Amino acid sequence: MPEGDTVWLTARRLHSGLAGRVLSTFDMRVPALATADLRGATVIEVVARGKHLLTRLDDGHTLHSHLKLDGSWYLCRSGDHPRRHPDHMIRARLGNADWLATGYRVHDLRLVATSAESDLVGHLGPDLLGPDWDPDTAVTRLLSAPAAAIGEALLDQRNLAGIGNLYKCEVLFVEQVHPWTPVGDVSDLPRMVATAQRLMRTNRDHPEQSTTGLRARGQQHWVYQRSGEACLRCRSTIRRADQGSPPRQRSTYWCPTCQPARR
Ligand SMILES: [Zn+2]
Repeated sequence: MPEGDTVWLTARRLHSGLAGRVLSTFDMRVPALATADLRGATVIEVVARGKHLLTRLDDGHTLHSHLKLDGSWYLCRSGDHPRRHPDHMIRARLGNADWLATGYRVHDLRLVATSAESDLVGHLGPDLLGPDWDPDTAVTRLLSAPAAAIGEALLDQRNLAGIGNLYKCEVLFVEQVHPWTPVGDVSDLPRMVATAQRLMRTNRDHPEQSTTGLRARGQQHWVYQRSGEACLRCRSTIRRADQGSPPRQRSTYWCPTCQPARR
């Protein structure tokens, strides 16, 4: 599932193929943009903002997309036929004389004035992988709802942008905090957001997501998707439960020994 580091890497790849080149393919397969044609515009840059992707063009437009749970962008040489997924999953194609970027099941495709990007991403908290990462503001925003469970607050992109379910679970394990701890009771929030940033930074340059530093199968994560297995630190059995209110509930994984519930 794409989290901030995956989106960051996607932006870098798209940037390498599209930036500085004139679009010769602009093919949006969603009703709202079916007639949009920005061929002839030059891509200035492709950047990630939290889990949002922004493709900025020199004619003053920004194309916004979001990967959500199942979307992906794939870059190949123009002239090659990408066969990453079936063609019916294609939502967008952007290309130039050398490269073709194909968006499979990408979501929230929108075309806005670059000056109005904040309408789409202005609500986001500080971006963990952004050039303007601001841990103090992230802590302040988290503390604005001190009764919220930390496991939900870390996923709220208005507090800080980029964390998905994997990093949420792993950060809480590393910090030895029970997922249902109220934000206001977390003893060291600055350290927690620093840990989140460090784990995501470590993984942003490659597609694999290891929070343990290990690459072996089944040992890449401390707790995420390891329910029923032994904790890599203490051998207790990892637990899983839904956290959050429908429809936004997510699986939370934790070690009952390393992350004891506070009384
Ligand atoms: Zn443990």
